[in-house]
Amino acid sequence: MKELLEAAAGGKAHEWGFIPVTELVFSPELLKSCESNVCGHYNSSWTCPPAAGALEEQRAKILAYKNAFIFTTKYDLEDSFDYEGMTRAREIHTVLTLEIREKAGGKFPVYGAGSCPCCKLYAGGGTCAFPDPCRFPEKAISSIEAAGINVTDLSRSAGVKYNNGANTVTYFSMVLFNEF
Ligand code: SF4
Repeated sequence: MKELLEAAAGGKAHEWGFIPVTELVFSPELLKSCESNVCGHYNSSWTCPPAAGALEEQRAKILAYKNAFIFTTKYDLEDSFDYEGMTRAREIHTVLTLEIREKAGGKFPVYGAGSCPCCKLYAGGGTCAFPDPCRFPEKAISSIEAAGINVTDLSRSAGVKYNNGANTVTYFSMVLFNEF
């Protein structure tokens, strides 16, 4: 599986690393902070709280696997206000995340930073269907933060950079799997 994931990420991902799921840190405070709705997705996405489930439920789902593959993509921006570039970068990252899941056999859960981006990409820029049924359950990408995992800490544990410098944007994903 390690070789398969690395081959799928090779040439497209910027960096990657592997960590045992037992090293993931789950923070109730992080999940609680979602309630302040700074990102605007609280109670409006299937992959964000409260629909994503309580911390213990999410933790149990993740700990049912043995290992996590963390990878990033990096995209150069024109400047720090390059919203179009950031949107394009997230689309590229989402496509790669789904491609890696497919190449890994399509059966392992994938997580990304932030709320699920799939409807934005595959439903003409649309928002999440929540509370109506998910439009693409086979594509939906769970949220790392909604599982109470801090992405900065995750990047450190996996040995990948959280920030790749001025005028760049870095996106994260995590694929859970069992045996190497
Ligand atoms: S695929 Fe669409 S409806 Fe389903 S969780 Fe993602 S954004 Fe929401």
